[in-house]
Amino acid sequence: MHMVTIEDLMPQEHFLRKLEAALDLSFVYEETAPLYSKKYGRPPIDPVVIVKYLLVGFLYGIPSERQIEQRIQTDIALRWYLGLDLFDRVPDHSTVSQLRRRKPSFRKVFRRLFEEVVGQCIEKGLVSGRVVGTDSTHVRANASRTSEELVEVVEEAGVYWEKLDAYEEEGLERLAAQIGKRRKKRVKQIKRDNRRTHKRISRTDPEAGHLKRPGKPEGPHYLSHQAVDSDYGIIVGQTVTPGDVNDSAPYLDLMEYVHTNVVPIQIATADAAYDFPLAHRVLGDLGIDFFVRPQKTAVRANTQFTRDDFRYDEGSNVYLCPGEKELRLRRLARSASGLFWEYQADKRDCAACPLHDKCLSENDRRGARKVSVSYFTADRRRNLERRCSPEYREALKLRQIWCEGTFAAQKREHNLTRVLRRGIEAAEDHCLLSAAVMNLKRMIKYTD
Ligand code: SF4
Repeated sequence: MHMVTIEDLMPQEHFLRKLEAALDLSFVYEETAPLYSKKYGRPPIDPVVIVKYLLVGFLYGIPSERQIEQRIQTDIALRWYLGLDLFDRVPDHSTVSQLRRRKPSFRKVFRRLFEEVVGQCIEKGLVSGRVVGTDSTHVRANASRTSEELVEVVEEAGVYWEKLDAYEEEGLERLAAQIGKRRKKRVKQIKRDNRRTHKRISRTDPEAGHLKRPGKPEGPHYLSHQAVDSDYGIIVGQTVTPGDVNDSAPYLDLMEYVHTNVVPIQIATADAAYDFPLAHRVLGDLGIDFFVRPQKTAVRANTQFTRDDFRYDEGSNVYLCPGEKELRLRRLARSASGLFWEYQADKRDCAACPLHDKCLSENDRRGARKVSVSYFTADRRRNLERRCSPEYREALKLRQIWCEGTFAAQKREHNLTRVLRRGIEAAEDHCLLSAAVMNLKRMIKYTD
């Protein structure tokens, strides 16, 4: 017969001892106090135990609450971390599950947990904001492809619609100053457009989105978007969208949030999916250098001359065509996702031009070639001019190492391949927990 306690059985160097010393979860009581009655009902399971229960699941890559319960029953280290003695009953998986289902406000704890961990990493000097990379990865929804059906929906205005309003006003002033005429804002006209489109929606999880990208599995997914500080790979921003949302859609909100509330960013870096003109302006206005892998210019399919064949003359603000004629600034156009300067050639020049057939398409209805350039082209050009500099290349490399490396580790070890619960809020909780344990591991590793 041996006389031992669970404390004796727990190795001194065990990771969970370090985690217990590093992570103060007392904020959980503060966040969950309104959910528990002091007068009625049976004594509840300690909310800190529930958070630890879920944390160990993500830490050790245990995919379901049922399996977490089974692991805690037989694993002394997990029992020690949860504060359970050898013969204490492990909280039932369905209790944890039902609590999450019936008390939606419990989920505030997961966002707070993530923020607390990031705050600790900043205090310990693991986050500087020098280079912050962003990327997204697909997370499989708990729904099958066969549950998807094609439905008709109204096309929504671009996510940056409101942001573009202010820039459009500014652009119209500039247009008036340059060519002496002012056009009405096109806001109402476009908002009334009500264009319809078709999209695949899963009946089982309608909040997931149909993912269809080269080299990726097709079907209902969510996308986890993360901003990662490249000093020690700490995830400083996390958000989730349906799988059919473009990577650029949540980008500016995520960057603005991190820059204002978490850590001031000096350099933001991202892959080509984030190279959209507005980002260069908005990040520039925030004082952030944007080092992005440049996106290839879309080739105009129906004519031989692409936009790259037209040379910009900054001094006189005109484009020069391959026939050395001027395309002058005519108007400011607006689409759902952007603002564009439109330059147009003189139709008499085009009519007499020997290159007419190579240059014009049926879209150039008035018989004169048009060139559209983003309103934010100058901001983009300013950033991309530095793309051969060592710091630009280093930032792109750091993004690849930390963003892609972090996703790979989370998918391999911390449950980021699929979500078990349905709905975007559950998906966000899932991704936040995965990000929080990734940060905890790195925080303990680099401060131990
Ligand atoms: S068709 Fe017009 S725009 Fe094109 S090369 Fe000739 S003059 Fe220039």
